[in-house]
Amino acid sequence: MLVVMKAQATPEQVQAVCEHIEQLGFRAHPLPGAQRTAIGITGNQGEVDRGNLEELAGVAEVIRVSKAYKLASRDVKEEDTVVRFAGTDAAIGGNGLAIIAGPCSIETRDQAFAIAEAVAASGAQFFRGGAYKPRTSPYAFQGLGLEALRIMAEIRERFGLRIVTEAIDNESLDLVAEWADVVQIGARNMQNFSLLKRAGRLRKPVLIKRGLSATLEEFLMAAEYVMSEGNYEVILCERGVRTFADHTRNTLDLSIIPAIQRLSHLPILVDPSHATGRRDSVLPMARAAVASGADGILVEVHDHPEKALSDGPQSIYPSQFAGMMNELEQIAPVVGRTLPRGIRVEARTGAAKG
Ligand code: PEP
Ligand code: MN
Repeated sequence: MLVVMKAQATPEQVQAVCEHIEQLGFRAHPLPGAQRTAIGITGNQGEVDRGNLEELAGVAEVIRVSKAYKLASRDVKEEDTVVRFAGTDAAIGGNGLAIIAGPCSIETRDQAFAIAEAVAASGAQFFRGGAYKPRTSPYAFQGLGLEALRIMAEIRERFGLRIVTEAIDNESLDLVAEWADVVQIGARNMQNFSLLKRAGRLRKPVLIKRGLSATLEEFLMAAEYVMSEGNYEVILCERGVRTFADHTRNTLDLSIIPAIQRLSHLPILVDPSHATGRRDSVLPMARAAVASGADGILVEVHDHPEKALSDGPQSIYPSQFAGMMNELEQIAPVVGRTLPRGIRVEARTGAAKG
């Protein structure tokens, strides 16, 4: 159910409606929009009696939301969600494309700094690097853990880049939330419902990667899990799905971009690295992603990919990343977007580019 408030409803009236909903034993999710505030109701098994609600001051109408996902749905919030980063001009969603670049894994401080410096020089606003790695083999490199989080915090201080990194379980979730700017939930955990709920109790944006064979509805339900706990800053990321095709690691499903944008207000990024597994396919798919309306790109970059401890074959060189940024900058205006270069950070840290 969704309570749509009148455009002129006061904050006190919104508050009173939320309290009424909570008194009925449900959860109220006030979602302010440009025109009016809508209040999503969750926690109800069946119908909520709309009679009472419609009589409360400031209420325009009460609507039944028939889709399985509610808070993630455009029915509940018409305007696109834009995730902003306090003290900076960086955003995910909205007109500017968000570019998240960095190595698959943080391997050493020198490696991470060299790559961060290169991607910052090309204008990326976000740096990615795995600290906790969900590897297919238990014998493969599992990540540096807290040491990697500390290195990335230093990178944020030095270059201003906002940090995106994956949490794989409860323990790493708390640490990632403490040290990073965006908590990534990987494809393999997209249906780890207890982890999603816990991420929903954080006050940090959550980037959810599409599961290896997740349908659009399953993908949006993962977002719904996070939002149902009160965290509305969710970013989706298409990273390819399993198909019979074996010329690439996965099959990039770009058609999910317009489908998601029709049904949901959440931003959607594309990861051409994990989608293809091949360095030579990353640029063509990144171009296509932007042309298809993606809100940004998450891409693996490594200065010595032949020595990388994970995902070397799909990691592009810093020079290729620079070329990609130039191309995406040209494609962006064709689809009514811009490519912001560099991140502006308010004085406190002082080290930012631009
Ligand atoms: C990653 O981003 O490094 C990663 C492991 O991605 P995915 O969860 O999409 O496989
Ligand atoms: Mn990787």
